[in-house]
Amino acid sequence: VSASAAMRTSVRSASGRVTGNAVLDRLPAADRAALLARAVRVPIVRGDVLCVARGPPGAIHFPLAGLVALVAPVAPRPPIAVGLVGRDGLVGPLFAREDDAGALGAIVQADGFAWRVPADDFAPALMRRPWIRRAVELAQRDIVAQLACTVSCMLFHEIEERLAGWLALAARHSPERVLHLTHQQLADLLGVQRSAITLATGSLQRRRLLDCTRGTLRIVDRAGLEAAGCECRRGSRTRVASRNAR
Ligand SMILES: [Zn+2]
Repeated sequence: VSASAAMRTSVRSASGRVTGNAVLDRLPAADRAALLARAVRVPIVRGDVLCVARGPPGAIHFPLAGLVALVAPVAPRPPIAVGLVGRDGLVGPLFAREDDAGALGAIVQADGFAWRVPADDFAPALMRRPWIRRAVELAQRDIVAQLACTVSCMLFHEIEERLAGWLALAARHSPERVLHLTHQQLADLLGVQRSAITLATGSLQRRRLLDCTRGTLRIVDRAGLEAAGCECRRGSRTRVASRNAR
């Protein structure tokens, strides 16, 4: 039985949430148990750095709630967000091999919880298990897809549709649909001027998709935001959703 076939079987047989993280819940029970035996459930808090680009391997996090931005360093300016991960994914130095560091950092954007596994435990013991290795490969593929999306976004899409797509994606992981982000933080994450974010949020407010007060963004109409967001983010979401439904 191939790893991917077994994973699909485990998805079909899953009657519901097991751990609350989709990557873990798709694993066969024995692999999930082996992984959780090395894991600790930890709170993740806005601003926490879960992983430093080109830094020490640290740990792999499987979010159960909350939202984490994958960021690329662009010194001396703040890092740019190239992806978002919630409870449908995992965060860690996934491209790291032995002493090599990963290329992306990870910063918590919305509070939640995660299963945390030290990177030392992940490789090689867990990566010898084909289903866990497959899960990591799928997570890597999602990150590459988000990277590709970010490149096209930055080159070809207007700031308002980029922001709408980003916020719609963030809202999927934030049940209360409230994000505590200032215009400056959004500008840093999207790699644009703060004044451009102010114009874009103003427009989204007038379209009644978003409510914005100092440092707080409340999603008023998530479906509307998704429709207003750029197509590349929608493509990424569809792919993840269809895999989770398999
Ligand atoms: Zn785009």
